[in-house]
Formats: sequence, structure tokens, C-alpha cells
Amino acid sequence: MAKNMLSARTNMPSLRARPQHARRSGNQILRDVNLRRALKLIVDHPGLSRADISRLLGLSRSAVSSIVELLLDAGLIDETLPNITGPGRPPRPLRARPLSSAAIGVLLDDSGFASVAAVDMLGSVVRKAPPRIVESPQEAPRMLAEGVLSILPELDNVRIVGIGIALPGVIDRRLGAIRFSARLGWTGVPIVTELRKRVPDMSIRVDNATNAAALAEQWLGAQAGQSILYFRITSAIGAALVLDGNLVRRAVSGALEVGHMVLDPSGPQCGCGRFGCLEALIEDELARYLRHSRTPCTNRDSESTPICDRYTRLVEVANAGDEAALQVVRNIAELSSQAIVNVINMIHVDEIVVESQLAACGAFLETISQAVSARSLSRWTSCPVVRPSTLGGMSATVGAAYLAWDAFWGVDEGLGRALYAMLGGNESGE
Ligand SMILES: [Zn+2]
Repeated sequence: MAKNMLSARTNMPSLRARPQHARRSGNQILRDVNLRRALKLIVDHPGLSRADISRLLGLSRSAVSSIVELLLDAGLIDETLPNITGPGRPPRPLRARPLSSAAIGVLLDDSGFASVAAVDMLGSVVRKAPPRIVESPQEAPRMLAEGVLSILPELDNVRIVGIGIALPGVIDRRLGAIRFSARLGWTGVPIVTELRKRVPDMSIRVDNATNAAALAEQWLGAQAGQSILYFRITSAIGAALVLDGNLVRRAVSGALEVGHMVLDPSGPQCGCGRFGCLEALIEDELARYLRHSRTPCTNRDSESTPICDRYTRLVEVANAGDEAALQVVRNIAELSSQAIVNVINMIHVDEIVVESQLAACGAFLETISQAVSARSLSRWTSCPVVRPSTLGGMSATVGAAYLAWDAFWGVDEGLGRALYAMLGGNESGE
């Protein structure tokens, strides 16, 4: 059934994400690039007219008209009549039709938690598969593929532009593989190779989950061009750095592994093998509280419970007025602050965006904010704002979908110029 759906979508040749082996002529590539650039402009700036697009993209009016007609025919945009009356032909505003297309975002987190969602071109989640827990690396590609295939039937009239996958640990983005996940204890897991066998003919992009979450924040939460430290404390701890609007990342890497920043060499051993990492210190703090406090020690709070569930329970108890729980939240915030201040003392950012269940307790962000303003060197310039992430627990899944959207937009000025040069300087796009 899903295969038929995918085949049906080949009726959208001009904008459909193609498998990498498909060969296209230079003119076809150029037309594709211009189509995507025009569509991205219309998504980002609703109400632009054909003349605006012609001016902004440096394309002839006739080239833009043919592009707009293709986008209208494909059902990706609407062109409405203006309300203005008077002499001359008023420009007709163009607007994206968000429900016309979607990218599939897939998250596999450090706890084995897997989430799949379809996200439209404006960043709204339009469909979600029920979350699942992946127990082993062998079953990971099958379970992720099942998640993707389970929501495709609900998207029958929606064009799927591709799949983005957010994975834990050190990632090989080119091969789409997990090199190493300290928390899961997995090494060398070829996620994309296996996934392609089950979901063929789809463009697939991969990144680290924290990087994906930061991309979602950049897409939907932050001001354009800002520098952000995205601090994610869920089942594992990581951070991502966005400098002047660009995510800092390599082809093979994790995110900024602040969870494995050693804060106390005499501290407990971490999953990475070293002693006194931020992640190990926080787990130790939480475990000591759970051992000695009677209040939250229900079955749900045993030490085998995933750490993010324990955070949720801790916050519930702290917000209900339990002083000991509140102190643990403050202690975790204090430990987190030490790592955050270490990073921002090396590189200044405008904002520190925190994603965690702990952010539901006011004391958590308050403590980090106070530590940043009291101890970071930034206080002598402009102190970064500390705030919660815009999308909370959906950040990494939406960010995964953004990976696919980003590939689909293909708005690469360098690529555009290279194509123009290849075609003898003809920038008309015709
Ligand atoms: Zn470590």
C-alpha cells in the first residue's frame, strides 16, 4: 500500500525529492533549483508577488511566471486576488499551501525512545506515529521504518519531500550510521542502509538528535542570524552551537558533548569510561535523592526508570512544594551551569536555549540564568538570555523533519552560481 502511494507521488516530477542516482540535464537541475528557491521565498514571506520574486531571485518575469504556474499546478501555492481597487493591475499575493506537502521526521533518542512525525513546510506537526522503545540496534531500522510506513497511509494526498533522522551519539552523516552511543552502548549501527531497504525511493538525511533539535529552534524559535547554545538535558545531555545562524557540525561527529565534560575527576564513572562527567554527576545526584527520599519513591521512580521520566516525576514533586526535590533540581541546574559557563566563556552566544523536562520547574532556569550572569565573562559584554526551547519534547523530531526540508529546499547560492556558470551565464531559468 505504501509502495503504491510512493509511486503515485512520481506524478510530481519537478519538485519531488529524487533518488541520488537519477540523472537530470543542466536545465532541469536549474529549473528545480529555481522552483525550490521561489517556493522557499513564498513560504518565508507570504504575500510576495511574481514581480517581487523576479526581483529577489534575479530572474526574468517570464521565467518566474512559468515557475509560479508549475507551483500552482502542483498545488503547492495559492495566488489570491488583491483587495485593492484603482488604476493599473495590482500584484496578486502568493501564499504557500502548507498541507500540500510534508517531510517525515524520525527521532531515535539516547534512551531508545523512537518518535515519528510528518511536518509541513511551516513546521507544524500534521501526523504522529505512537512512540515506541527500541531495545536493540538490530531492530532499530525495522522499527523506525514501521513508524514511517504507519503514517504514510494517513498522508495520501500529501507530497512527501523526504525523511530526516535524528540519532543519538556520534553520527556518520554521510553513511547515515551511528558510530557510537555511550548511553545505549551501541557501536557501528547502519541505520540508513537498512532503512532504505524498507522505505526505498525516499531522500534520507541524518544528524545527531541535539543538532536536529537546535535546527528546529533555529527554524521556528530563534531570530535569524542569532548565535545560540542549545542545551539539551533529556535521557542524555548534549548541546549544539549555532553561530550567526549556522549550526556548527562536521560530517562525522556528535553534537557538543557537554554531557561528557569532566567537572570532577574524582566523581563517579560515566558510560563513556571516564570519571566525573556532567552526565555521571547528574545521574549520581538523582540516584542519591531517589535512594534517600521517601516522597517520590513509587514503583515509577525506581532506578531502572528512564531518566527523563524521573525528571518529570522530580519536577512534579518539587512543584508541589517538596524542599528536598527542589534542592535536587537546583543542584542539577548548578552542575549544568558549570558546563554551560565553560562553553560560553570560550565562545559568546546571544541566547542559551534549554530543552528539558526540568525546565517545567521555575528554579531550574532561574539557577542557570543566575549562574550565567554571575560567572560568565559575557556579563562584561552582553549577557546571554536563558530561555526554554520553543518546541520542548518535539524539538528533535521536528528538527529531523527540517533536515529533509533543508535538503528539499536546496537553496544553495553556491550551487546556483555554479549552475549558472555551467549553463553559460543564462540566469533566466528557462
Ligand atoms: Zn562521560
